[in-house]
Amino acid sequence: MEKRVKFSAWYVFLAVWAVLIIHSFIVQTFQVKTIPYSEFLSSLENNQIEEISITQNHIQGKIKTTADVIGKPQTFNTVRVDDPELTQKLVERGVKFTGVIESTFLRDILSWILPIAVFVGIWYFIIQRMGGQQGFMTVGKSKAKIYVEEELGITFEDVAGVDEAAEELIETVEFLKDPGKFTRLGAKLPKGVLLVGPPGTGKTLLAKAIAGESKVPFFSISGSEFVEMFVGVGAARVRDLFEQAKTKAPCIIFIDELDALGKARGGMTVGGHDEREQTLNQLLVEMDGFDPTSGVILLAATNRPEILDPALLRPGRFDRQILVDKPDKKGREDILRVHIKNIKLAPNVNLPEIAAMTPGFAGADLANIVNEATLLAVRRGKNEVDTDEFKEAIERVIAGLEKKNRLINEEERKIVAYHETGHALVGLVVPGASPVQKITIVPRGVAALGYTLNVPTEERYLMRKSELLDRIAMSLGGRVAEEIVFGDISTGAHNDLSKATEIARTMVTQYGMDETLGHVYLESGGRSPYLNTPGLPEEKKYSEETSREIDAAVHRILDEQYARAREIITGHRQVLEEGAQLLLEKEKIEGKDLKAILDRSTRETA
Ligand code: ADP
Ligand code: MG
Ligand code: ZN
Repeated sequence: MEKRVKFSAWYVFLAVWAVLIIHSFIVQTFQVKTIPYSEFLSSLENNQIEEISITQNHIQGKIKTTADVIGKPQTFNTVRVDDPELTQKLVERGVKFTGVIESTFLRDILSWILPIAVFVGIWYFIIQRMGGQQGFMTVGKSKAKIYVEEELGITFEDVAGVDEAAEELIETVEFLKDPGKFTRLGAKLPKGVLLVGPPGTGKTLLAKAIAGESKVPFFSISGSEFVEMFVGVGAARVRDLFEQAKTKAPCIIFIDELDALGKARGGMTVGGHDEREQTLNQLLVEMDGFDPTSGVILLAATNRPEILDPALLRPGRFDRQILVDKPDKKGREDILRVHIKNIKLAPNVNLPEIAAMTPGFAGADLANIVNEATLLAVRRGKNEVDTDEFKEAIERVIAGLEKKNRLINEEERKIVAYHETGHALVGLVVPGASPVQKITIVPRGVAALGYTLNVPTEERYLMRKSELLDRIAMSLGGRVAEEIVFGDISTGAHNDLSKATEIARTMVTQYGMDETLGHVYLESGGRSPYLNTPGLPEEKKYSEETSREIDAAVHRILDEQYARAREIITGHRQVLEEGAQLLLEKEKIEGKDLKAILDRSTRETA
């Protein structure tokens, strides 16, 4: 590639040089000396003018200068001045003159168009030589690397700890192997599959595994490669990529780091077309244009789904999202097992133990640990990798990771475990909260140290007041648990508080669900989206007094629900304890696991 670029640059240089030579040659033969009108007149006086032709604006002719050694008359050119006596003078001196309608056509052709033709000719020749494929002038071509399965050799065996994600992807692979099987029944396949998850969890790896398993061509390109300094190039690349893919179907297009090009189109760019925006629009157009039965599957990965343009996530686009999460303890063990395949381990190495020592590690971190440990063993001249090396490697990696993102220590883990169990427990007891699906203390991202996932059982358009209150109670359950168990509270509830307050406030101001304020809609005008100046106060449509009442009402709701959550958790203290212990041990439990503990406890007390 590097060599090719030099090769073509040399040709460009040659072409430019040729153009310059030809141009100067033509100018020479047609060389015209431009002289001032006064000089022309004095030359005329001295009988040095031989013949002239007069055009609209110029006078051109032959002049014999005294300095002209060879005596060959020179062509001159002067700007015509309105001089009524000129004809008279010319006749007097016996100079032959003609009036001509100005035409520089021939000269223009020869001096410019001809060299350009030569230039284009050479250019064409170069492109032919390059096979029209790579190198120079491929800015509009997609840079996608095409892999075929043998080159990659990665299968699902190489990816561990992300079983749920892998399972979902297997279906996609089945489709690629036999599209007919699905389309015969009229099944609609997703056009785009988006892998979402923190960095280093194996998204890129999973995509490659799909390519390896399905044995079809795999176009891999990174989102950032679409966006270049030339305007319009990104869009052209997208078009080209889809065109290439269609000719190779069935195949996979994989766009890694989709966020680089799929960032939400800002409303703030005033005028002008943002390059990224054009590229994104082109991607949307292409996605709408292709038929999922054609056997082209679009796969993308991102670790920042929240900044993606919502248009990308609409049905018919990336309509299936697969979460590739950080592994739990069991997952980490499996990942370690994948990476030690080719490494000689000492018999005392206990993988579950290592997995237990590495909460919050992603697959890439674990791969890193195995590698570090092996390097240490080599440095120490050992024949096999020992537990000592692993421990040291973990320490090193943790030191590195602590700078980048936070890993939690034992104390924090405990707090998070009780906090999350608190949420889940309140969620299970109150009738109106959505069922708790999953509780985890695997740290994710910057803010959330753990989370309790509860999904609504059905799409809700209406919510009863009691349900909203239940949700508030559940949001507060985390903090309540911390308070009960540790007698102290942490900053971990920050997000919960904002969520609970938000619900309480809308209940009061928009749904008219508070007795003291009554059934009113207390809208605060909001800001015009076009005048989104920070610091500009919101326009309130109610008095200061009402404003105070709203705050009081919100407070009251939150306090009541806090007390309620407290009552629930105190009443099931033993369940909280058992649930938290189970969570600490497994890092991730199902909602039904906690439900089982709760049911058993209620049966015992009854
Ligand atoms: P991502 O694309 O999610 O940021 P990668 O797929 O690039 O992460 O992972 C980087 C490396 O980390 C992989 O090449 C692999 O060696 C290792 N790795 C990450 N996740 C896993 C996993 N689930 N199983 C096995 N190895 C993994
Ligand atoms: Mg990646
Ligand atoms: Zn919480």
